[in-house]
Amino acid sequence: MTITRQAFFRMTGLAALAQAGRRLMAAVAPRRWAMVVDAQKCLRDQGCTRCIQACHRAHNVPTLPRPNHQVAWIWKERYERAFPSQRNEYTAETFKDKPVLVLCNHCDNPPCVRVCPTRATWKREDGLVMMDWHRCIGCRYCVAACPYGSRSFNWVDPRPHLLELTADFPTRSKGVVEKCTFCEARLAQGRPPACVEACPDKALVFGNLADPDSEVRKLLRARYTIRRKPELGTQPQIFYIV
Ligand code: SF4
Ligand code: SF4
Ligand code: SF4
Repeated sequence: MTITRQAFFRMTGLAALAQAGRRLMAAVAPRRWAMVVDAQKCLRDQGCTRCIQACHRAHNVPTLPRPNHQVAWIWKERYERAFPSQRNEYTAETFKDKPVLVLCNHCDNPPCVRVCPTRATWKREDGLVMMDWHRCIGCRYCVAACPYGSRSFNWVDPRPHLLELTADFPTRSKGVVEKCTFCEARLAQGRPPACVEACPDKALVFGNLADPDSEVRKLLRARYTIRRKPELGTQPQIFYIV
């Protein structure tokens, strides 16, 4: 009787062992999370806010009546404000004065982390710049240090201003800073960020820069991309196809 290689593996339990080995390798493989925003695709429907709504709903981000109290994890900014060093009098019509999606850049060299006196904000091995709202004392040093305006301070209690409550995500209190977390809770479950999932045009692509076969790496090889304020040396991990 001849036994195939697969049958031999099954019989000896080696297949299960090999699978466990592959899972272990995947778990310890290096990760560097990043996002590619296809700004051209995003501009096709300038009124679309599905990604913003999905993020803010998932993370209990309040809608506050006073504009100067506004809290935002992801929003649209005029191209010239988002990319001041790219601005010139010949900026292509496609982008001139147009809204571009912006969020925390999860910088490789984040100034916000350096200035925090309580380590309420820190950078993980996989690149996520995190927040611990219990440790935040509201000094706002990080707000001043972030050159992208990616952090919001809760000037008022945000809880009465939630349009709906998402029970599986914490709410914050008055006097703490918050920002995009790259959906770390969803990533831990193997799910994509809420904004990425919500985009009907697949204008947002999230993935692992450490994996040369990931979608983000393929896009970065195939398309021309820019980053916000690269001259500052913060090494943003949000790349824009323009
Ligand atoms: S964009 Fe701002 S808040 Fe986000 S990591 Fe960079 S410096 Fe920090
Ligand atoms: S406001 Fe909070 S997160 Fe920001 S620097 Fe101060 S303690 Fe750290
Ligand atoms: S990655 Fe997650 S937290 Fe960040 S903007 Fe998108 S949905 Fe919001």
